[in-house]
Amino acid sequence: MSVDVEDYFQVGAFEKVVSRDQWDDLPCRVEANTDRLIDLFAQLGISATFFTLGWVAARYPALMRRIVDAGHELASHGWDHARVFTMDAQSFAADIDRAARTLEDASGQAIKGYRAPSFSIDARTPWAFEVLAEHGYTYSSSVAPIAHDHYGWREAPRFAFRPLPDADLIEIPVTTVQWGARRMAAGGGGFFRVLPQAFSHWAIDRVNHVDGRPAIFYFHPWEVDENQPRIPGAPLRSRLRHYTNIDRMEAKLRKLIETYAWGRMDELVKRETALAQVWRA
Ligand SMILES: [Zn+2]
Repeated sequence: MSVDVEDYFQVGAFEKVVSRDQWDDLPCRVEANTDRLIDLFAQLGISATFFTLGWVAARYPALMRRIVDAGHELASHGWDHARVFTMDAQSFAADIDRAARTLEDASGQAIKGYRAPSFSIDARTPWAFEVLAEHGYTYSSSVAPIAHDHYGWREAPRFAFRPLPDADLIEIPVTTVQWGARRMAAGGGGFFRVLPQAFSHWAIDRVNHVDGRPAIFYFHPWEVDENQPRIPGAPLRSRLRHYTNIDRMEAKLRKLIETYAWGRMDELVKRETALAQVWRA
C-alpha cells in the first residue's frame, strides 16, 4: 500500500494552470489529509509506504516524524513533482538528493525507496535507474507498464525487475492486470475512484492468484478531501480525473484495505529481488 504525498495543486493534471511560483500562496491541505490517512491506517491496522515530496517535508517536518512513528516507511517522491523526462541525469541527481536530505533530516530515517512523479521513468529516461543506484536507493516504484495518455512504458515488465545487471536496485512497477491481449491499470489513482470497486478487487485477485504476485496500490491524500479548493481554469478532462467520486473514496479505500493484507514497500523488496530478472530497455 502506498501513498504519494503531495497537495491537490501539485498534480501533473493541473501543471498548466498552477505554476510552481503560486504554490507558496495556495492554502495547503496535505498535512491534515495525511494525518487523516495515518489515523485511517491505524484504525485498520496496516502499515504503508509514504512516497513524499521533499517540498512537503521541508514545510511539515513534524508530519514526517508522525509518519515514521506510526510504523510506516517514508520514501521519496522527488523534490517538487518535476517529471523525470523533464530533467537530465545531473538535475535528476540534484532533485533526488535534495528530497532525500530533507526527508532524512525531518524523520531521522534513511530513505531507500523512490517513486517518480507521474510514473515518469519510461523509455525516454532509462538512465534514471543508474542515478538511483549510485545514490543509494534499493528500490524504485516508478514505472507504469501500460500505454496511457500522460505516462507509461508499455514494453516494461509487469512485475519486479532489475534494470541494471550490476546493481541490486529493483523496479517494482505499479499494478496492471492482463486479460488476454488487454492490459489495464489496476493499481489505484483515478482508475480506482472512477471504476466500480468490483473491478479493482477482480484485478487484485487475478494478480495475487493467477500471477502469484503482490498488488502495488497507490493513491494521494487529496483524494479523500471533498472540501479541497477547486482549481479554476483547469481543462474539463483534468477536472473529471481529479474530482470524480472523491466523496466516496474513503469508504472504497476502507473496503479495499479490509479485503486484503497490506504492508510497506520495503517489506517486499527482499522477496521481489529474489524473483526479479534483469531487464534492460
Ligand atoms: Zn505524484
